[in-house]
Amino acid sequence: MEDAQKMREPELVGCFEDALQFDHIYAVYQPQINHSTGRMVGAEALMRWRHPIYGVQMPGDFIPVLEKNNLIYRADLHIFETVCKLQRKCLDAGMSIIPISVNMSRYDIYNTNYVDEIEGIRLKYDIPVKYLRLEITESSAIGGRELITRVLRQLHDHGYTVEMDDFGSGYSSLNILKDLDVDVIKLDMAFLAGDIGGRGGTILSSIVQMTKWLNTPVIAEGVETMEQADYMKSTGCNYIQGYLYYRPLPEEEFLEKMNQLEHEPLTPGMHLIKTLDAGKFWDPNSMETLIFNNFVGGAAIFTFKKMTNELSLVRVNRKYVRELGMNLNEQDLVGDDPWVQFDEENKEIYIRAMKRAIEFGDEETCETWRTMVSDCCGEDHICIRSSLRVIGEASDDYLFYAMIQNVTKEKKKMLQVSADEGRYKTAFEQANIYAWEYTIATKEMRPCFRCMRDLGFPPLLKNYPEPAIEQGIFPPEFADEYRDWHRRMEQGEEYFEAIVPLTVGRIPFHVRYTLEKDENGKPLKAYGSATLVVDEPEKDEPQSEESKNE
Ligand code: C2E
Ligand code: CA
Ligand code: CA
Repeated sequence: MEDAQKMREPELVGCFEDALQFDHIYAVYQPQINHSTGRMVGAEALMRWRHPIYGVQMPGDFIPVLEKNNLIYRADLHIFETVCKLQRKCLDAGMSIIPISVNMSRYDIYNTNYVDEIEGIRLKYDIPVKYLRLEITESSAIGGRELITRVLRQLHDHGYTVEMDDFGSGYSSLNILKDLDVDVIKLDMAFLAGDIGGRGGTILSSIVQMTKWLNTPVIAEGVETMEQADYMKSTGCNYIQGYLYYRPLPEEEFLEKMNQLEHEPLTPGMHLIKTLDAGKFWDPNSMETLIFNNFVGGAAIFTFKKMTNELSLVRVNRKYVRELGMNLNEQDLVGDDPWVQFDEENKEIYIRAMKRAIEFGDEETCETWRTMVSDCCGEDHICIRSSLRVIGEASDDYLFYAMIQNVTKEKKKMLQVSADEGRYKTAFEQANIYAWEYTIATKEMRPCFRCMRDLGFPPLLKNYPEPAIEQGIFPPEFADEYRDWHRRMEQGEEYFEAIVPLTVGRIPFHVRYTLEKDENGKPLKAYGSATLVVDEPEKDEPQSEESKNE
């Protein structure tokens, strides 16, 4: 840019009329690009002031002066007319044109004629309203919600698309969003302050996620690096305006780009399923929020990218946080990558459940173990039962609603039981023990796993011990004595043992029985076991290998 000298307030005000008349105040155009497709989705007109002597002045230097002197309103109308003239010229030349956004100062809103004035200009040049957009800022609401709401309604009645500029710069952003019915949101990368991975990135990403709920397209502004553009894309925001693609361009250069590039319309990131009212969902006072927080138990909203398996929490309710324990708060959870809590196996389980939910459009349940870490409570291993349901989708991006329940206690108890069972089993395997349980009242016998495997027993034998005798497992010469044990157990005798040559192989086993009684002394069950007799050196042992072979 040629050497420019900053103009002072009196000079600016003094030559304002000339500047309008001779088009010293003019527009440059910055294209807006879909980072995924490379197509142009629109452009923003930015005001410049070229003084014949002092050179080009930047808006940061002269707009505050114009605002202070109540001149911005006329400058903005001048830019609006400049844009209409350009669109008319292009339409007449048969070009395929693109919507151009014009900035609206908050002072324009105080001017009750503003909407009528721009409508007059638009009609004068006969520009279809879809080729014009208006940018307002959060600060427009400073003059009161009623005023801005009325202007917004007027603009919408005429069919204008209204963009919320510099969204997130004020602190009442979220409330503004729910009150003001804007059509596009512009996020400025400047709010990141070079901090993509940190807090700033988290805020941006949650804003983008949230705007998806509102079915509102988002344009990222001030994008200077590929890293920033890719980051925005990863949060679901594909529309980029910034030096990375183009600086604000003089008219002729802009037209060149416009003719070169393909065009496409701005579309919302995600379509919500019809039954949910997104606006109400985000309203802290709505019934939906009340229900989300108080009645549904632990619940979360998150997004899932099917191609990359990325997961990102958008919102959790208080009970969700409570289910996870660990004294966490909602912010801790929404900022972090949820996968850090999962090991590979549990991650796989969760992903499979989500994919089923996507495929069948129904609720899917899964249980996953997670490792939770918090500053105050250290580390904890918890099991969460999740019921998952898809509530919104955009090409590869799915919005999920999850209800969760902490089932750690229940799971640990079950694991304990099966661990005990496992230990019991291994002990038997190692000790060559066969075991069974006999119920006195019903004469039913339940064999252990080994009995079933080695002796071909079913899981339940009725009228015991007859089946074992019939099958020849218990030898005939011991049959009567064995039957007698069972009768005596009925009468309350508590312990029996003998060495018995079992099965057709007549293999010596040490058979024992122990009786269990209830608190009144009534016999309930008897626990039987048969242990292989190995290297039993007793001389009086009648069933030795030799005697078997006789
Ligand atoms: P804005 O509406 O937020 O416009 C975006 C500003 O960011 C522009 O500054 C643009 O040149 C700059 N920008 C674009 N890409 C990048 C980038 O990659 N990195 C950086 N660092 N900056 C980038 P500009 O043109 O100096 O305008 C400054 C502000 O002046 C605008 O901010 C807007 O608030 C105001 N303004 C500009 N034109 C008009 C207008 O016609 N009417 C009114 N009322 N205000 C205007
Ligand atoms: Ca703007
Ligand atoms: Ca901006």
